[in-house]
Amino acid sequence: MRVLVTNDDGIFAPGLWILVKELKSIARVVVVAPDREQSAIGTAVTLRQPLRVQRVSPLVPGVETYSVEGTPGDSVILALGKLIKSRVDLVISGINQGPNLGDDVLISGTVAAALQGYLRGLPSLAFSVATPNSPYLDTAAKLATLLVKRIGGHRLPSDIFLNINLPNRPLDQIKGIKTAGLAHKTHIDTVEEGHDGRREYYWLVRQKLTTEANEKTDIWAIEQGYISITTLHTILFQKPLLPIWDSLGDDLFQELRS
Ligand code: MN
Repeated sequence: MRVLVTNDDGIFAPGLWILVKELKSIARVVVVAPDREQSAIGTAVTLRQPLRVQRVSPLVPGVETYSVEGTPGDSVILALGKLIKSRVDLVISGINQGPNLGDDVLISGTVAAALQGYLRGLPSLAFSVATPNSPYLDTAAKLATLLVKRIGGHRLPSDIFLNINLPNRPLDQIKGIKTAGLAHKTHIDTVEEGHDGRREYYWLVRQKLTTEANEKTDIWAIEQGYISITTLHTILFQKPLLPIWDSLGDDLFQELRS
């Protein structure tokens, strides 16, 4: 299998390379990612200026790697439309350091990169560990390889777009895997004002509203110490939820711990 790996934390982010290192044992990996951090850039694509691309040295030897002066979405469009000449089987975005949960999937650059893969007919996965500067990235990388194997072995549908978040804790403290929906209305955006001696300025500040009580949501799952898998293709594109998703979490968690 050939897997395109990208992210929104920038091409030298540790989460991307931990993922690449693990995936390399089961797939051919090509990295195409933004040259700098682009978190919360959402689905932005660059249409009014040229895109520059550079072949760069990979942090994991032997991996074809391109750095893009553009957004996560640009990176995937360029990768699939121009840079990679062979067939790509799957797109993975991440591992993002910080949560991409609930309504925030709509501003997430991590999720948006995976979206571009899905829109081009490829199974696409977005991975995040739900704490900034999270040290526990290994489990996400391992889970990614399990999912890639399942997709390669046709044990999952190919028409999928999954958003996966992990709690920031070691595997033996993770309770399981839930296939969860998106939480809604979990934040309010407030504006803080200041003055720098010359002009006023504003900071957009996100404030968490409440602890999510609905057990079917991704935020609840993470807060309780579960890994959350959300099938965004069913939510955003109104595709029916297949029975396969009911047992996926338990099956995967057993395999993850074995
Ligand atoms: Mn990010």
